[in-house]
Amino acid sequence: MKIIVINCGSSSIKYQLFDMDSHVVLAKGGVEKIGLNGSFIKHESNGKKVTLEGEVVDHQAGIEYILGILISREHGCISDFCEINAVGHRVVHGGEKFKSSVLITDEVVKQIEECIQLAPLHNPPNLSGIYAMKSILPDVPQVGAFDTAFHQTMPEHAFMYALPYSLYTKYAIRRYGFHGTSHRYVSERAKELLGEQRTQKLITCHLGNGASVAAIINGKTVDTSMGLTPVEGLVMGTRCGDLDPGIMTYVMEREDINRTGINSLINKHSGLLGISGVSSDMRELETAAAEGNQRAQLALDMLHYRVRKYIGSYAAAMGGVDTVIFTGGIGENSDSSRYEIAKGFEFLGLEFDETKNVGVRGQEKIISKDGSKVTAIIIPTNEELMIARDTALIVGGKQ
Ligand code: AMP
Repeated sequence: MKIIVINCGSSSIKYQLFDMDSHVVLAKGGVEKIGLNGSFIKHESNGKKVTLEGEVVDHQAGIEYILGILISREHGCISDFCEINAVGHRVVHGGEKFKSSVLITDEVVKQIEECIQLAPLHNPPNLSGIYAMKSILPDVPQVGAFDTAFHQTMPEHAFMYALPYSLYTKYAIRRYGFHGTSHRYVSERAKELLGEQRTQKLITCHLGNGASVAAIINGKTVDTSMGLTPVEGLVMGTRCGDLDPGIMTYVMEREDINRTGINSLINKHSGLLGISGVSSDMRELETAAAEGNQRAQLALDMLHYRVRKYIGSYAAAMGGVDTVIFTGGIGENSDSSRYEIAKGFEFLGLEFDETKNVGVRGQEKIISKDGSKVTAIIIPTNEELMIARDTALIVGGKQ
């Protein structure tokens, strides 16, 4: 069975084509700058990487471009579209409607459209990908995998905000959480690697440009750091994370900025970038801090401190923790961040092993001491594979 996984952003489409029988990624890549000058596609197949330029006006054209390259004689890996058995789409917001991945029907499309208000920047491009695939491959089944779905098991006391209850009933204002597919992948992988006994209470740290932590008991999220939108929680590349809500109105008044301005401030100009004034990128910040830039160092300290606070509070919320998982670009690659976050947790039963941790990038590895009551482990995430697996199960009629 061949499955293509599609992730449509506002001006990009990422894709991976899986052969589920041989467990091989046949092709992967992305179209960037859709609707802008200088669109291009980066494509990798048969061990060859190419970058091709071409005008891509919208997502429909982007999907046509991707499918075209997949069947092209020079760069392709299949001979006909009919070899594609199913399509899996990443969909950011599923509201309270979707608790797991689903087969996309007209009714499901309508429900995803109804969630647009909760994710006005993300759901419309996700839907564009679905519309495009439907028009080009009308007979191929499509599946939606939602970033929010895995966290739908959170109890009410964790997902409610202490606002008037009517805001929940009128507008569905509550905490949803994101990165669900990643938290689910690493939690399931941890169970395979460490066994059930050591993975009953998990804290999964997805630390990338966007970042979130989840508390998971027996495979079910009980709390997570992102909220109604992906701005809440950790200090991120350009997002502020947790904030005194009173700051919003204060800054709006003092700086004379409106709703759009404050939205842009907390989403695009805050976090590591806003604090350091240097960059939102961890590698650049690590370099700047090593050269003595104090604001870069402050940004790093704030990021690490906030993750530590979440780990501590989730351990308290769950009444303990068996394993702490690091994933995402920073979690998988930055040994100094992992050290700064996980050191000094002996009181929780976590004995971090500096030697095992040093220099590890992008590989599965236990980084706590042998015999540590709590395990710390790096597990590179693989959201695309998770979506492909869901798609195969649903299309195969097993879910
Ligand atoms: P993601 O959003 O998961 O792709 O993660 C992006 C973040 O991971 C950026 O802040 C990168 O700087 C960071 N990152 C990627 N590779 C490394 C590395 N080798 N060392 C430190 N940070 C890294």
